[in-house]
Order: sequence, then structure tokens, then C-alpha cells
Amino acid sequence: MLNADTLTKWMTNFETRITKEKDYLTELDRVIGDSDHGNNMERGVEAIKAAFEKTPPTADLAQDFKTIAMAMLSKVGGASGPLYGTAFLEMAKLAKTDTDFGDLVDAAAKGIAKRGQAKTGDKTMLDVWAPAADLIKQGKLDDAAIDKLVASTEPMIAKRGRASYLGEKSVGHIDPGAASTGELLKAYLDATA
Ligand code: ADP
Ligand code: MG
Ligand code: MG
Repeated sequence: MLNADTLTKWMTNFETRITKEKDYLTELDRVIGDSDHGNNMERGVEAIKAAFEKTPPTADLAQDFKTIAMAMLSKVGGASGPLYGTAFLEMAKLAKTDTDFGDLVDAAAKGIAKRGQAKTGDKTMLDVWAPAADLIKQGKLDDAAIDKLVASTEPMIAKRGRASYLGEKSVGHIDPGAASTGELLKAYLDATA
């Protein structure tokens, strides 16, 4: 269940995971992007940490998500900053009335699709966010399921973002934003286990 305590744990776990996977995320982005996704995400998790030190999470999850969204929006940059920012802003909006995690992830996925003009199958982070929402609702999201979603981007042809410049040459590589989204979801599972 999501509350101030689990949200804090979630973000702390996310920071640990991004720090650990930073070089891997950058390597994925080197192959089909511009080699900055690990650094972008590291700036994001550090900004979330700093924001929570200033404004600790409370029972007002809508406000807590807004704090996360603003940190990501102001510090991550690139394509992923506005997209993660949108995801958390959509969660903030919904959390005023509904804090069910499947519903939150669903709202985030819809926000990303709209903001990024992306569909599932376009080889982006949406290919993890959207199916994850369904799996959560079915009670079937675990680490193995997350790994499968991340890996599902490997055979796809990129249709959005920098990787799309490569066209068919993007096939055979995992999407960096899908991989960082996988870390975010695993961080949540660890926090609520
Ligand atoms: P940039 O591409 O600007 O350097 P990042 O490297 O931080 O930004 O993030 C790249 C990731 O952002 C991609 O791997 C993909 O998951 C995601 N992304 C990029 N463009 C879009 C889009 N239009 N819709 C959804 N996701 C996108
Ligand atoms: Mg990049
Ligand atoms: Mg960049």
C-alpha cells in the first residue's frame, strides 16, 4: 500500500537502483541514443532526494507526487525528464481521489502516451508503463514480469525519440527509458513487499 512511508522507501530504492545501473543505462543509450540516460536519471533521483529533504512526504500523496514530478521536470532534461515529470504529475492529479497503484500507473502511462505522442510498440518507456498497469491490476507484476517487459523492447523498431533516427538499426537493443522504468517499478515492489 502506498503511504508516506512506502513512498519514501520507493524513492530511496529508486535512487539506489539508478545509481547502481547508471553506467548500464548510459550504455543502452550509447547504442541507440546519445549516451546520457544514466546521467539524466541520476540527476533526477538526486533531485528527488533533495526535494524530499526539504519537503518530506506526508499523507498528502498528491502533494508528494507533485514534489517528485517537479524534481524530475527541473533536473532530468532530455526527452525523459518531461515524460517522467508528466507521469508523476498524472499520478499527483489522480492521487487526490484514488491511490490504487494500478490506477496510478495507468494514469501515468496515458500521460506519457499523450505527451510523447507514443503508442505501445514504438520502443519507448511506454512499453513498460502501459502493460505494467494491466499486470498490477491482475496482481501479476513481479521482477520477472518487469524484466520481460523491458526485454520486449529489444526486437522493436523505434518510432519515437532519438532511437527512431536509427530506424531498423534500433532493432536488437533494449530501450534505455524502458530499462529505467523497470528499475522504478522494481523499486516500488521492494518498498511494498
Ligand atoms: P534524450 O533522448 O533526450 O537524450 P534520455 O536519454 O534521457 O533523453 O531518454 C531517452 C528515453 O526517453 C528513450 O529511451 C525512451 O524510452 C524515452 N522517450 C523518448 N522520446 C519518447 C516519446 N516521444 N515518447 C515516449 N518515450 C520517449
Ligand atoms: Mg539520451
Ligand atoms: Mg540527451
